[in-house]
Formats: sequence, structure tokens, C-alpha cells
Amino acid sequence: MLLCTVRGCHMPLTRDEHTFKCPSGHSFDVARSGYINLLQPQDRRSKDPGDTAEAVAARRRLHDRAVTAPLLKVIDFNSDDIVLDVGCGDGFYLGTRAGELGFDAHGTDISIPAIDAAARRYPECEWVVANADRFVPYANRSFTLVLSITARMNSKEFRRVLRDDGRLLVALAAPDDLIELRGAGRDRVARTVQTFAQDFRLVNQRRVTTTADLEADAVRDVLLSIYRPLRSQPLEAMRVTFSLDLLLFLCRQS
Ligand SMILES: [Zn+2]
Repeated sequence: MLLCTVRGCHMPLTRDEHTFKCPSGHSFDVARSGYINLLQPQDRRSKDPGDTAEAVAARRRLHDRAVTAPLLKVIDFNSDDIVLDVGCGDGFYLGTRAGELGFDAHGTDISIPAIDAAARRYPECEWVVANADRFVPYANRSFTLVLSITARMNSKEFRRVLRDDGRLLVALAAPDDLIELRGAGRDRVARTVQTFAQDFRLVNQRRVTTTADLEADAVRDVLLSIYRPLRSQPLEAMRVTFSLDLLLFLCRQS
């Protein structure tokens, strides 16, 4: 199901012990923690290599405090789904739900620290470091469900790797997400529907919101996870809003 990411190659990869190889002889190592690194040299030089280890650790501590758990429950998975989470971060959503429901789970992210954390916590899923902005490194029609949870959007590639009856679920930070810490954000729904309009049609839209009373160290973790500079004065406990716009799309038939 995995494809070679060397430019102009894109041949199927097959596993040989701790290496994945394509018929043209390109090879990719499996890391000790179990993930597969498909980044190309031009991706490694990218100005945007994804989340830092510090942000990944802060986000995982927030997940482990269960402050975002209510947001997780609203995504409808089927136990026979084959799921790709593009921009999966530390794998919290995908790994937790795959553990509960037993579906076939694949996650990809450009951040090595994020994928390494995912592979250590959820070894039963497949984790891949790749730049999905350019190429989603899976064969055509591999998946029944693609997730993009506050992550990048690549409409053509998402459509290519989905089966014709597949679903796409996109989660966006809603305008009131973390409003106590960063003020009101933009409503991104209309622009996002437009981004996917050629390949997908919107069938359901909902907003899911939860609040949590956070201790000062949890507030600090929120700021770290969104790359906000920490204030010089001590942080105080506060109530914080977490809010997502969830858009469910079905594939347009080509
Ligand atoms: Zn190749």
C-alpha cells in the first residue's frame, strides 16, 4: 500500500526486515520505534518541518489530561474502516480510537518527533513520516476514510487514495477555539469547503465545543502547543475553550 516518495518513482514499497524497498532500488529504513521515514532531502530542508519535540510533548500532556476527549468521541468510525490520518501529530485521535474499535489505522506527519511519539504509544498502527503536501505515499483507493484534523489539506491526493465510496473528515479550529488565550479566530468553513469542492461534496457540518478548567501548568502546555511565547508573569489557572468545526465529505465520482 505504501509508495516510494522519490520524485518520478512512486513504485510500490515492499518490506524486507527493517527496510522498505521499491523495484528501482530506493530504500527507506524502519526506525527503532517502528515508524517508516519516507521524507526526501528537499522535505528535510523545508522551513516547515512540522511540530517540534517540545510542542509534541506539551500536546500529549494535554491529551493525557483528557481535556480534548469530548472532541474525540464525535468522529464516527466503523470497525472495518481503513483509515489514514494525514497530519496525525502524536497520533492521539487515531491511536486511541483504533485501540477501542480495532479498525486498520495509518498515520502520517512531517514531524519526526510527532511520529516517533505516535509509534511508541500506539505500535499496533502504521506510522509514516512524509510530506503530504506534495504526495500522499499510498496506492490509489487504499482507504475508506481520510482524516485531516487541524492539518494540511491536499484535495487531489486525498481523493486519489480514497475508494470511490470513501469519506473525508476535516476538522478545523473553530473561531472560539482557545479564545481565552488567543482571541477570536477566523471562521474557515466556507474557504475549506471551496478547497475541496472539485473532488468532494459536503454532506455534514457540525461544531463541537468543550471547556476545561486548566491548572497553570496545563495553560503553559496549551501555549507551548500553539507556539505562543510564554508570558513573563506567572500563568494562572483558567477555563479554556476547545472548539472544532467538523466537515464530513463524500467523494465526487470522476
Ligand atoms: Zn523508488
